[in-house]
Amino acid sequence: MKSLYLKKEDCCGCSACYSVCANQAISMKADEEGFLYPEVDQSRCVDCSRCTEICPVTYDGNYKENDTPRFYVARHKSPEVLWQSTSGGAFTAISDAILRQNGVIYGADYDAGFHVLHQRAETSEQRDRMRISKYVQSDMGNTYAQIKADLKAGRMVLFTGTPCQAAGLRGFMNNSSFADRLYICDLICHSIPSPLIWEKYKQLLERENGGKLATVQFRSKKDGWSRANSNKGFLFTIDKSSEIQEDDRFYQLYFKVGSITRPCCSQCRFTDIHRASDLTIADYWGIEKYSPEWFDPLGVSVILVNSPKGAALFDQCRQDLVTEERPQEESFNEQQRLREPSQFPETRSDFWEDYRRFGFEYVIGKMG
Ligand SMILES: Cc1cc2nc3c(=O)[nH]c(=O)nc-3n(C[C@H](O)[C@H](O)[C@H](O)COP(=O)(O)OP(=O)(O)OC[C@H]3O[C@@H](n4cnc5c(N)ncnc54)[C@H](O)[C@@H]3O)c2cc1C
Repeated sequence: MKSLYLKKEDCCGCSACYSVCANQAISMKADEEGFLYPEVDQSRCVDCSRCTEICPVTYDGNYKENDTPRFYVARHKSPEVLWQSTSGGAFTAISDAILRQNGVIYGADYDAGFHVLHQRAETSEQRDRMRISKYVQSDMGNTYAQIKADLKAGRMVLFTGTPCQAAGLRGFMNNSSFADRLYICDLICHSIPSPLIWEKYKQLLERENGGKLATVQFRSKKDGWSRANSNKGFLFTIDKSSEIQEDDRFYQLYFKVGSITRPCCSQCRFTDIHRASDLTIADYWGIEKYSPEWFDPLGVSVILVNSPKGAALFDQCRQDLVTEERPQEESFNEQQRLREPSQFPETRSDFWEDYRRFGFEYVIGKMG
């Protein structure tokens, strides 16, 4: 087996192939844009094809549910949780239902250098670190294998991540009997930015401010939760200073320039209402139009209940949420990623050529 994909658009970097290989013949290596891709060590590969058979991008049906989900508006009852969450705090309510049953949570966190990676949480303190969207592709490391070990040990597990990571996990689990204790919750995902550009951006902030980043926060509600405010408000602090600073250039690269996201996002197989997960969470964009009494400047979530398992988990977390079932058309109209993949600008390759030739400060300066 030489390469696991023909073109970059066919690999979402979920790491399921790496995780499933019994001979450790696959490693995940960053390309020149900083995205991880599988690389095969021919001397270890026995051509069993397990890696390609389970790939969520090419697997027939992409591990999606056949049924149409039920859509709910939801808001956490605690204003403190809302303030500390990206949207309406759905993740906290869902994960608390699992923690109450001595379960384990997997989600996106930072390491000490603010690299984004999936981590394991057994306490609410560890889980709280997973709150707030991190607009960078997270490194899955050995998450799938750890999840399998937890399930085999009899633990209940909640995995949260992007739709392609969720589908990758379904492929990796391959309907194992112990997967009945696994709950998968994905996000509606705009597209996923490059870890390399995130690295360069962090370095730029540190150079400009003459110190080390002490905290970072991609989304904040300091100007209130709204769609208009969702692509600004990146906050950070430097060293021991308590001064909270704001900078929107990473957002501009993500949403305005649009060239820093993974090639496969332009052909994403997971941008429809049939989800490869039990629950899907996102912002309830447009709720102020459809039902103004639900609007809250502290945030509102939409929860899609995709499977019977998802329905059971949703029932268990409702004690912490105010909820109401809503027509699916509302979110379908407002959420482009329930209808189609992200469109890349024609200038995407120019952006990366400029980056290679002139460096990060040049491309960020060019935004004007
Ligand atoms: C890259 C990305 C794109 C998104 N695009 C959209 C969109 O187009 N429309 C929309 O309505 N919502 C989108 N969301 C989801 C939204 O931003 C919130 O994450 C979601 O509503 C959950 O909010 P919450 O208040 O329930 O959770 P919070 O308490 O804020 O928890 C955040 C959750 O997101 C997960 N997460 C955070 N960063 C990552 C990451 N890098 N990779 C995988 N999982 C991560 C955490 O594990 C946790 O489960 C996106 C999120 C991400 C990470």
